[in-house]
Amino acid sequence: MALMTGEQYVESIRKMNRNIYIQGEKIENAVDHPILRPSMNCLIETYNMALDPEFEDLMTATSQFTGHKINRFNNIHKSKEDLNKKVKLQRLMGQRTGACFQRCVIMDCANAFYSTTFEIDEAHGTDYFERFKKFIVRVQDEDLIVGGALTDPKGDRSVPIGGDGQDKDLYLHVVERRPDGVVVNGAKAHLTGITNAHEVVVLPTQALRPGQEDYAIAFSVPLDAPGITMIIGRQSCDTRKMEKLANIDVGNAKYGGVEALTVFDHVFIPNENIYLNGEVEFAGMLVERFAGYHRNSYGGCKSGVGDVAIGAASLIAQYNGIEKASHVKDKLIEMTQLNEQLYALGIASSAEGWQTKAGNYMVDLLIANVCKLNVTRNPYEIVRLMEDIAGGIMVTAPAEADLRSDAVGHYVEKYLVGRDVNAEDRLRALRLCENLALGTAAVGYRTESMHGAGSPQAQKIMISRQGNLDGKKELAKRIAGIAK
Ligand code: SF4
Ligand code: FE
Repeated sequence: MALMTGEQYVESIRKMNRNIYIQGEKIENAVDHPILRPSMNCLIETYNMALDPEFEDLMTATSQFTGHKINRFNNIHKSKEDLNKKVKLQRLMGQRTGACFQRCVIMDCANAFYSTTFEIDEAHGTDYFERFKKFIVRVQDEDLIVGGALTDPKGDRSVPIGGDGQDKDLYLHVVERRPDGVVVNGAKAHLTGITNAHEVVVLPTQALRPGQEDYAIAFSVPLDAPGITMIIGRQSCDTRKMEKLANIDVGNAKYGGVEALTVFDHVFIPNENIYLNGEVEFAGMLVERFAGYHRNSYGGCKSGVGDVAIGAASLIAQYNGIEKASHVKDKLIEMTQLNEQLYALGIASSAEGWQTKAGNYMVDLLIANVCKLNVTRNPYEIVRLMEDIAGGIMVTAPAEADLRSDAVGHYVEKYLVGRDVNAEDRLRALRLCENLALGTAAVGYRTESMHGAGSPQAQKIMISRQGNLDGKKELAKRIAGIAK
């Protein structure tokens, strides 16, 4: 099958019989739910833009397996150029949506699975690589969205995986082995875009050691498989999307992100969908490679959303009549340079990519981790400067219902005007700032910048591993004339 249209994608999800809960209630129609629809709109864009000649070069790729044109989000990277285009695509999508557009997880997971399964087979004589190749070819040909499930809830972090003293299900694991597959139990936390996906790939949360074989399990499964339940994460200001007007006050009424706690309650996984099963020494490689790709991704997506934040700050400066003030210009320059740092690190980690044994390309892990560590900081400063420029009215302005009210609307129109702008457009710009700083988009732009693709400490551990301090000591010794 060729690339799907946005509409075909929506209908393909609508047909699925899934178990989704929001605020304690099961939703029968998740596709049209007002809280969820903006997140699906981001995914619809990924389909429609792939069919638009203007974006074709970034949005699509050619499959090395079939020669077919595929959505780039389902691509196995064939070159450093592919890695480069991945980051450019992510910046473009961040600019278009002002949100987490959710489709990158499969691109990053698939490339990690592709190279790791090859190396597991080499060591163990298994056939995971061919199984995974079959899976990704189907995903490419059917133009599917696949979520990625990494993070276990963990509970008390001082108790080791599977250790005595707490519920073993706090880490997803195999509870039954059958000739035709396994049964798994557990949950995965904050799964990006999961309610907009057809299937999910699941992998361990961290490196494992002998004795933890039941936790060394990786597989793919359709999201309407029996035993899977998705519980939607609460976002600040999310119920504004349920209000009668649900437009200006939302800040970004069209797009958004979604995360869910996803429970696997005795889910059966057939052998052909399993890509790691007990080979504990490869869990770390799988996780490290996925995290590396995803930390490179953040250089693209977060700089794209950063462009929207800088644009919103610049617009509100214009509306407030302060755009020529030197301190405002200086703040916008500072926001821009902070944002470009992230993009530069994303592009650099792609440019320094390398070919794996399986043949696909991996990003430079040191630079990708430095990229993500900066992502845990720069968006916070960008948002701080945006709030500084926007002024307190960003959080004290009246509601859209007041603007539309017969009784007080004329007051709002009179007192909320700016320079050459009416109250409505000024409110729109202010609410976009609020959305990025404190509303639903803040999940994706701020807290996800901190914890998505791993919390800062995870990047520091990788930087310390990849930093080659011994090599640097040798450089210093040579120049200082120290013989040994
Ligand atoms: Fe893609 Fe960024 Fe969202 Fe991850 S956080 S899925 S990289 S948009
Ligand atoms: Fe993320």
